[in-house]
Parts: sequence; C-alpha cells; structure tokens
Amino acid sequence: MEKYKLPDLPYAYDALAPYMSQEVLKLHHDKHHAGYVSAANALLDKIDTARKSGEVIDFKSALKTLSFNVGGHILHETFWKVMAPANTGNSRIKGEVLKAIEKEFGSFERFKTEFTETAKSVEGSGWAILAFHKEHGENGALSIIQVEKHNVNFYPEQTILLCLDVWEHAYYLDYKNDRAKFIENWWNIVNWEEVEKRFASK
Ligand code: MN
Repeated sequence: MEKYKLPDLPYAYDALAPYMSQEVLKLHHDKHHAGYVSAANALLDKIDTARKSGEVIDFKSALKTLSFNVGGHILHETFWKVMAPANTGNSRIKGEVLKAIEKEFGSFERFKTEFTETAKSVEGSGWAILAFHKEHGENGALSIIQVEKHNVNFYPEQTILLCLDVWEHAYYLDYKNDRAKFIENWWNIVNWEEVEKRFASK
C-alpha cells in the first residue's frame, strides 16, 4: 500500500540558487523527503498487516514514528510549494494575507522578526510555521508555531500558510553552521502568491 507519494518539485533543482543550492535541494527532496514518505508507508503497512493477523504491536512506538514521518512528509510537501525562484513576481507580499499579518503582528517587519527569531531558536531540528487557527477568536487568527522535529508542539487544528525547515540538512552544505544567514536569504525565495492562496482557502 502506497498511501503517501513523493511529489515532484514545482521547479528545477537549481531554481532556488543561490539561496538554496541545487545540491542541497536535490538531497533534501530525493533523499530526506523520500525517506519520510517510505517510512510512513512502511509503518502503515505494518499496522495494516498486524490488523489483518490480529497481532497486537507496540502502538505507542509505531504511532510516534508514524507521526514523525507523516509530519515530515506533509511539511516538506508544503515547504516546496511555499518557495519559488527569486524575482519571479511571487516574491512580494500583498493582498489579504498582508492585511491579516499587519493586523495580527502590527507590521510585516514585526512578523518577519518574530518568524526569523522562531526559526533561529529551534533547538536542534525543527520548523518555523505561520499558521491560521480557525478556533482562535471569532474570525480566527494567525500565529507562529515552533515545531520540534516534524511533529512536536503542533496544535490540533491549524492551516499551515508558510513553513521553514531549519534542520541542518536544509542548509548545512550551503551555509555550514550559519543558520541565521540561511534564514535571512530564504526570505528571497518565499512564494507569497502561494501563501496568499493558502490564506484565501483556509
Ligand atoms: Mn527537511
């Protein structure tokens, strides 16, 4: 059973250079993301096989691993979409999502500062996420989430509008230990058109 599938990148491997190199993007997509997809499918197979045979497996361990790998798959799938080659016209924020960010954070600059600090301060491997919470107040609200690994600190309900991978595999070959520089450069390849689309269909 192949429940999850590795999606193709929406651009060429070298499309995000020089901010994210071809080498990093290829490894990240073809090896790391692919690994989460196959591990998630293997776990689902294991659970399915046990269900059919009646065997009681270690569900605590299986579901923890499943959550890690499915989280990894969904976040990476989103990550590829919310990036685009620099200077393609997608890289300027505007529209309703800009209004919502200004309403929530006071200004776009303040949002950028908070998101950057969130990403910089992830302990070890994780993500910074801009999310929309439907249940948060009358009209919902935007918030920033700092996810550890792929699945820790998530809220039960939110729509991911933007996410940034700060695992070392996302930047180490390009930036060595300088995560801050990677984050600073990453703003050049954010696909705001996609963020706006996600916000509109939240
Ligand atoms: Mn990653």
